[in-house]
Amino acid sequence: MSAVVTEPCVNCKYTDCVVVCPVECFYGDDTQLYIDPDDCICCGACLPECPVEAIYWDVDVPAKFSQYIQLNADRVNVLKPIGARVTEKQSR
Ligand code: SF4
Ligand code: SF4
Repeated sequence: MSAVVTEPCVNCKYTDCVVVCPVECFYGDDTQLYIDPDDCICCGACLPECPVEAIYWDVDVPAKFSQYIQLNADRVNVLKPIGARVTEKQSR
């Protein structure tokens, strides 16, 4: 299991979520953030931090956002090697 970032994250300017993650497993591009499903330890800290409720457990992702489970994994595979980790709250 892991946490998954879904569509409401698109164009978020807050990134409140990243600062609470104990394993720093958030990555970002110009569109949104993504969670590394391999590194997420399912602590649950980030879910209540997101003001737009974009983060779900993979088993709870609504059907309309189901493609985001694979998207998080795919984008992390691209972003992780180029160092696009996001660990500090920022304006994006
Ligand atoms: S708080 Fe984090 S997960 Fe929520 S919308 Fe903003 S960047 Fe995305
Ligand atoms: S559930 Fe915990 S480990 Fe997983 S992304 Fe959220 S804060 Fe990080």
